[in-house]
Amino acid sequence: MEYAYDDQNIFAKILRGEIPNNTVFENDHALAFNDIAPQAPVHLLVIPKGAYVSLDHFARDASVDEQAGFFAAVAEVCKITGVDDGFRAIANTRTHGVQDVPHFHLHIIGGAQLGRMLPK
Ligand code: AMP
Repeated sequence: MEYAYDDQNIFAKILRGEIPNNTVFENDHALAFNDIAPQAPVHLLVIPKGAYVSLDHFARDASVDEQAGFFAAVAEVCKITGVDDGFRAIANTRTHGVQDVPHFHLHIIGGAQLGRMLPK
């Protein structure tokens, strides 16, 4: 699988500071910010700072430090947002997964009772 990264995607622009975002947490390897169109009381995106298009790209090619930094950010976001009663983490991927922004991002969605994962 070839992963072609488009550095004009909107999250690349956020990482370069070209467009604003509502940052909730940041470390050396990841940035977490509020989704611009929240689908629940808590809806954040956690993104790696490296140029990875998707979860499978990140899992294959990111260094151990990048992966550790990313998941440390996920842990911090869960703590900051207080989603102790649960949440959903979603990584929409490519066409079948209906991914709009081609920079890997994990949605963290919660703060209320969610419906089932997929309609039956
Ligand atoms: P996906 O379909 O998984 O690629 O989702 C992309 C997400 O990015 C959507 O939930 C959008 O609402 C969100 N989004 C798009 N532009 C921005 C932005 N400038 N700041 C924050 N979230 C954004």
